[in-house]
Amino acid sequence: MDNPLLDRDALPQFMRIRPEHVEPAVREQLSENRARIGELATLTAPTFATVVEPLEELHHRIARTWSPVSHLNAVVNSEALRAGYNACLPLLSAYQTDLAQSEPLYRAYHTIAEQEGVELGPVQRRLIEHAVRDFRLAGVGLPPERKERFKTAMLELAQLQAKFEENVLDATNAWSRHVTDADELRGLNEMLIEQARRRAAEQDVAGWVLRLDQPTYVAVVTDAESAALRRAFYEAWSTRASDRGPSAGRWDNTAVMEEILKRRHEVARLLDFPNYAQYALATRMAHSVDQVLGFLHELAAAARAAAQAEFAELEAFAARKLEAWDVGFYAERLQRERFRVSQEELRPYFPLPRVLEGLFEVAERLFGVRIRERAGVPVWHPDVRFFEIAAASGEPLGSFYLDAYARPNKRSGAWMDECIGRKRLAAGSALPVAYLVCNFLPPGAERPALLTHDDVVTLFHEFGHGLHHLLTRVDYPSIAGINGVAWDAVELPSQFLENYAWDAQVLQRISGHFATAAPLPPDQQQRLIATRSFHAGLSMMRQLEFALFDFRIHTEYTPERGGRILEILREVRHEVAVVPVPEWNRFPNSFGHIFAGGYAAGYYSYKWAEVLAADAFAAFEEAGVFDRSTAQRFLDAILSRGGSRDALEAFIEFRGRRPDVRALLKQHGIERVAPKQYDADGAGEPA
Ligand SMILES: [Zn+2]
Repeated sequence: MDNPLLDRDALPQFMRIRPEHVEPAVREQLSENRARIGELATLTAPTFATVVEPLEELHHRIARTWSPVSHLNAVVNSEALRAGYNACLPLLSAYQTDLAQSEPLYRAYHTIAEQEGVELGPVQRRLIEHAVRDFRLAGVGLPPERKERFKTAMLELAQLQAKFEENVLDATNAWSRHVTDADELRGLNEMLIEQARRRAAEQDVAGWVLRLDQPTYVAVVTDAESAALRRAFYEAWSTRASDRGPSAGRWDNTAVMEEILKRRHEVARLLDFPNYAQYALATRMAHSVDQVLGFLHELAAAARAAAQAEFAELEAFAARKLEAWDVGFYAERLQRERFRVSQEELRPYFPLPRVLEGLFEVAERLFGVRIRERAGVPVWHPDVRFFEIAAASGEPLGSFYLDAYARPNKRSGAWMDECIGRKRLAAGSALPVAYLVCNFLPPGAERPALLTHDDVVTLFHEFGHGLHHLLTRVDYPSIAGINGVAWDAVELPSQFLENYAWDAQVLQRISGHFATAAPLPPDQQQRLIATRSFHAGLSMMRQLEFALFDFRIHTEYTPERGGRILEILREVRHEVAVVPVPEWNRFPNSFGHIFAGGYAAGYYSYKWAEVLAADAFAAFEEAGVFDRSTAQRFLDAILSRGGSRDALEAFIEFRGRRPDVRALLKQHGIERVAPKQYDADGAGEPA
């Protein structure tokens, strides 16, 4: 076989994959799949073995071909590879839509589900339920006209969402601040000032030019001593793509947002859901609108007093009344003064080799696994390392690549992705393989890679996703590992494992000064741990404001009244905002998570999964954070089950009860804050 992307016998041969392999491999695999699907759709007596299993195998094959392509596109991007990648996107999308709307297959799954006298196990039943649900949510069962309208609405929605994003981008690019008085730059770091000076020179103007990109915006509102500069940036940032601020009306998203809400509502109604939020919940762990709203209100009620106390304290620290653009600046100073912790000063204590050793030890102690590096495996860059994970008995469970360092042509951020999914089918078996990707500072000539504690938390987070993928025991690819897991529960294993990066015992193990091997001194450990709950109330209320706003606009839309976007935002703020927000703030107009991305009616998921993770970890705190039997139960009930069971049932099996939000509040120290009857507006309400 010439094309390495069609070789399914071994690990991907990364060094052999060329851009010219991409499109031919995908076309060949897709046409093979389409031909096979055509045959499966005509079977007169479909069974699990004759239809579902072969479809699972086809799913596995296309993923096997595509995964290395999309991975390489993200980590060693090039013009040629990007072209091959982009050429395949519409092919894959058409394939997926055709599959999801295939009526013969939909009927076959129904028939299999209702067959009498055929024994299907709970995992098989679950797989079929999932598939039937997804057919339905793709509009398979609609009469022809509605099906057509559904397709059109989905396409229009994609275009509107792209337009929303373009407007935000253009508005962001259009604004800059020309500074001529050096005093106005006080507090900003040298790198940023130098950049601004170069930009001014390029534009042939005196002084400095600051742009509105995110790193600059964050640096200004956190570090700039000039309140005027902070205000200018805050105003430009929070009015992007709106009818207010410096570019008022030029890239206004107001009408686009209205159209997006209208299409989403239409899509939901076509499928007989009362609103878009309820439609989105069809695949989530949360079941009803009331349940989500109740959850968010409960957190708000619990965190309000803490947030108000934090804000009052911050104003006392600043010795003046704070505006929205002052909060980040004074919060940073208060934190530095109180904890005397700086991420940069922590670096020498967290060399990557020491952190990895400690992290693997955590997994080994918890789940009885063994992790060993293996050399000589084909990789896409010399820095990439490969590890195998096995059970205590020696039985191999899976393997993973670690691509740890930032470099050019590699996407920023950190993530875990599936290289190969676990399967045990009649057509053959495969063990799971994962990609763990981070963007840490590379090692120097004389020293190993040194991580900040933020980096350490990120590594634990991604490794948590990795364990979810690698320790799965499910045989069918569509519901193994992270596949088929409710979207508001998928961050449970990752946020769960983060807790270990904050544990004193673990900090002792993963830290070791790169020059002296001395672990992080105990007093510094304690100060670091204490920063975890700094301003937890304020940040909780802010997240709740976003989540409530998102969920309410997707619940309350009606064709008669429209989206009422600003009206609902005002109501939400009245209820949960602690920090005063100026009337002209138009944050929804650049809220890409929900208007352009996948978080529509889903912003609450962040908090939802955080509660699950905190409550699961609380079970470990009760029994001892390395208690083997608790870890075994976590593995059996949640970590190994993939999407093969309901997320809530899985949680209840592990915890013996439903999730309890108090675990999260306790973790952030919110419970410990004595309620103070203080209100920033002087309205005073008892907590
Ligand atoms: Zn994550």
